Amino acid sequence: MNWLTNFVRPKIRALVGNEVPDNLWEKCPKCEQMVFRKELCSNLRVCPHCDYHMKIGVDERIACLFDDGEFAKIPYNHCVSDPLKFKDTKRYSDRLKAARESDGKNEAAVVGYGKIGGHKTVAIVFSFEFMGGSMGTSVGEAFIAAAEYAISKGYSFLVVPCSGGARMQEGIFSLMQMPRTVVAVNKVKESGLPYIVLLTNPTTGGVSASFAMLGDIHIAEPEALVAFTGPRVIEGTIREKLPDGFQLSEYLFNHGMVDMVVHRKDLKDNIAKILGILTHKK
Ligand SMILES: [Zn+2]
Repeated sequence: MNWLTNFVRPKIRALVGNEVPDNLWEKCPKCEQMVFRKELCSNLRVCPHCDYHMKIGVDERIACLFDDGEFAKIPYNHCVSDPLKFKDTKRYSDRLKAARESDGKNEAAVVGYGKIGGHKTVAIVFSFEFMGGSMGTSVGEAFIAAAEYAISKGYSFLVVPCSGGARMQEGIFSLMQMPRTVVAVNKVKESGLPYIVLLTNPTTGGVSASFAMLGDIHIAEPEALVAFTGPRVIEGTIREKLPDGFQLSEYLFNHGMVDMVVHRKDLKDNIAKILGILTHKK
């Protein structure tokens, strides 16, 4: 409960009746200010008060990166969805079903191609909404399909991870996607095609330990957590206080792990410029 729930909402209800949707506002996780969702969407989900970059959906991400938002999907094999018949507090198959229903996507990543500033580019964009953007077998297949498509057409390859890492419910099968994606990246590089990684918040675990840190160029959104293990776990293990901003984009930029930290509104122009340089096209 806060002043907004107790005070502002009843006032608005009194003014316009009871039809005020609960999701009209969103709280910024950094400055804790309430932001009008409409304003937030028109600002590419960047907080207008403190410039914090909130998570953005796959469709919005594609719309703000690709020319006219045009993005043709690339088909890929869907693997056995629950190879280990895994169950913790819930069955994995039920978790998958719930994620598919709530996210409207079939898996934690979307693959396709379009143009960025006129440069033909294949992309794989991760959805954190779908089981934390975790990489299972189908996501690995999607990644490989995207890489192979880029090679067959001679397009650049852009990866936009937003992921907690490997999908634990698939055990060794999900870990196997780490070397598979690395091989796919190497094939793209052997073909002389640009491989760009756009690191978003968060990029952690098996994803950061495989294809996400192999880009020709690493671009990161401001204040994105990019790590193998998060700071809380490290602090708990070594029992020491970590420096401020540890493992965030700016820290990684200062330590040479990231090439540039770019505001969301400037991402498309910057990626287009880099693709132009790498492909020798204006
Ligand atoms: Zn804020």
